[in-house]
Amino acid sequence: MATSNPYDNMLSYLEQAAQILGLEANDYEALKYPERILQVSIPIEMDDGGIKVFEGYRVQHSSLRGPCKGGIRFHQDVDLDEVKALAAWMSFKCAVVNIPYGGAKGGVKVDPRDLSKKELMRLTRRYTASILPLIGPERDIPAPDVNTNPEIMGWIMDTYSMMKGYAVPGVVTGKPIDIGGSLGRSEATGRGVLIVTQETVRHLGLNPQSLRVAIQGMGNVGGAAARLLFDTGFTIVAVSDISGGIRSENGLDIPAIQKHLAGGSTLCEFSSPGVSHFCGGDILTADCDILIPAALENQLSAANAADVKARIIIEGANGPTDVEADEIFRSRGIFLVPDILANAGGVVVSYFEWVQNLESFMWDLDQVNKTLEKIMIRAFREVVGISEAYQTSLRMGAYMSALKRLVAAKNIRGIFP
Ligand code: GLU
Repeated sequence: MATSNPYDNMLSYLEQAAQILGLEANDYEALKYPERILQVSIPIEMDDGGIKVFEGYRVQHSSLRGPCKGGIRFHQDVDLDEVKALAAWMSFKCAVVNIPYGGAKGGVKVDPRDLSKKELMRLTRRYTASILPLIGPERDIPAPDVNTNPEIMGWIMDTYSMMKGYAVPGVVTGKPIDIGGSLGRSEATGRGVLIVTQETVRHLGLNPQSLRVAIQGMGNVGGAAARLLFDTGFTIVAVSDISGGIRSENGLDIPAIQKHLAGGSTLCEFSSPGVSHFCGGDILTADCDILIPAALENQLSAANAADVKARIIIEGANGPTDVEADEIFRSRGIFLVPDILANAGGVVVSYFEWVQNLESFMWDLDQVNKTLEKIMIRAFREVVGISEAYQTSLRMGAYMSALKRLVAAKNIRGIFP
C-alpha cells in the first residue's frame, strides 16, 4: 500500500520481509503493535508567566531482545503514528546490529526554537517526570534525536536521579562526558554513515576519490557525516539544511562551512568563490553519486524518486524514503543502504555508553570507534549476504536479518502467560 504514514510504511516492509522469509503470521503478529504507549500533557510555565501545554509521547515497541531503547524528538510535526514508527524502527535497528535492546521512541510536539533555554529545560524535566514510570536503565533508555542534544540528556539524567534520590547515569545515553557520556557518542551516527559508505564503495569496487556526495541535513547526523567523509577524501558537492542548499562542483570546504554554522549563521548566508545557492528541497535530485538524506521522514517520494541522480543512497535519517520511492529506487537499480542499518552507529555507541555506566568504567575513544566499526561492518556484510541470497533489496535484507533475530527471541521466550 502506497502511503506516507510512517507507521504504515513500517508495516508494509515488515509484511514483505516476513513473506520472503516464509514466516507464519503467528511469528510476527505481535511485532505489528507497540507493546506500550504513554501519552502525556506537559504544562510549562513560560517566561512571561503564561501556561502552555505541550503534547508528548513515549512508545515502547518491543522488549523482546532487551530493554527498550530509542531517542526523544522535539519537533512541531511529532504525532503518535510517527513516534510509533520510529519506535518500531529502533527494534529492527538494534536487531540488525545485534545489540541486546528492544525499541522505543519519545516525542514532544514543540518547535524548540520558540522556547527560551529555561522553558526548554522546564519542558524536558516535566516530560521526564511524566514518563518516569516507563524509563530506567533496565527498562527503557532514552537518547537524543531530532532537536535534542547532550545538554537535554543531562537534564533528563538529573531529573530521573533527583526523583530516585541517587545518581542514575544509565537511564539515558548521549549525555555530556562529565556525567557519564561516552567518548565518540556525539559523532557516532555520522561515523556509522561513514563506515557503511566506505563498505558500500568497497563492495561495489568504486574509487572514493571519484565520488561526489550530496547531504540533506547538517545536524548531528548530516554534519558529522559530512565532516568525516570530507576528511576521508570524498568530495562533498552539495549540502542543505532548513535554510536552503549550497553546492560547488569542485567540492565544498566542509570545515569552513561548519565554522560558519557554529557562529550562529545559516547555510544560506554562506558565501565563498565557486559556491552557488539553491532551494533546499532540490538537494535530493542534485547531480551526485552518493545521496545521504539525513533530515526527516518521507523526503523521497513518487514526486522526486525518478529524478534522483545518485546511484547510491545512504539513509542517515529514519524513514527518509516512502514505500513508492523505495520501489522506484529498487527498479532503477540504485544501491540503497536502509536507515535501520545506515544510521545505527548512534544507538551502537549509546549501547557502549550504557555498558560503561553499568560497569562504572570508561572506555577510550579508540575502543569505542574500533568496536563500532567491527559491529557496523559485520551487520553490513550480513545484510548484503541475505539480500544476495534472496535476490532482494538491502532494505529487505536488513528487515529479514532483524526479523530472524526478533522471531528467534519470541520463539525462545514464548508468549506470556
Ligand atoms: N535517535 C537515534 C536513532 O534514531 C539514537 C537512538 C539511541 O541512541 O538510543 O537511532
